[in-house]
Amino acid sequence: MSKWNSPEWEALYSGDACPICCEGRPLGIVAELNVTYLTSSPESPMWGYCCLVLKRHAVELYDLSADEASALMKDMRRVAEALQAITSHYRRHPVILRHPDSGREILYVNPGITKYIIGMPRDESDDLLKQLHTHSTRPSYVYSHDWQLGDLVMFDTLGTLHRREAWDPTERRVMRQLSTLWDPSEATA
Ligand SMILES: [Zn+2]
Repeated sequence: MSKWNSPEWEALYSGDACPICCEGRPLGIVAELNVTYLTSSPESPMWGYCCLVLKRHAVELYDLSADEASALMKDMRRVAEALQAITSHYRRHPVILRHPDSGREILYVNPGITKYIIGMPRDESDDLLKQLHTHSTRPSYVYSHDWQLGDLVMFDTLGTLHRREAWDPTERRVMRQLSTLWDPSEATA
């Protein structure tokens, strides 16, 4: 059975229900490139999902001339490079992971750094992260150090959310941090 047999695909294929043929442009345009539009819409199957749509009706790659195909590839490369530039600042990691030394499970989200949970609608992800942040910063879980001259505090930054309060900018302050090479993106929960 051909993949074009369903009425929905037939209508797209013939142009009857094709946004390019009917409206001249697709829905949810984010950017216009040389021969394509970059689109994204809230109805997309996943938040952040985007789609590159050719400006003219074509069904298969071989419907394009060599020049059109080359221009399409250039647009695809531009989008891929732009996405790479954006996503290179992000890392995926488990929400819950296992401490490599203690073996205990750790909630690994941080209100300052965690953006969203992959595969979850954005509003549900925001709600869940808010709940997790509220839980992990309950007063009974918070230790606040009142610094005295000569104090040395050591803690495991992997299993401990940590932050500092503002301090007098005229005071001298030296901070040293020791980081290990452990990579959370390779951890398994
Ligand atoms: Zn069309």
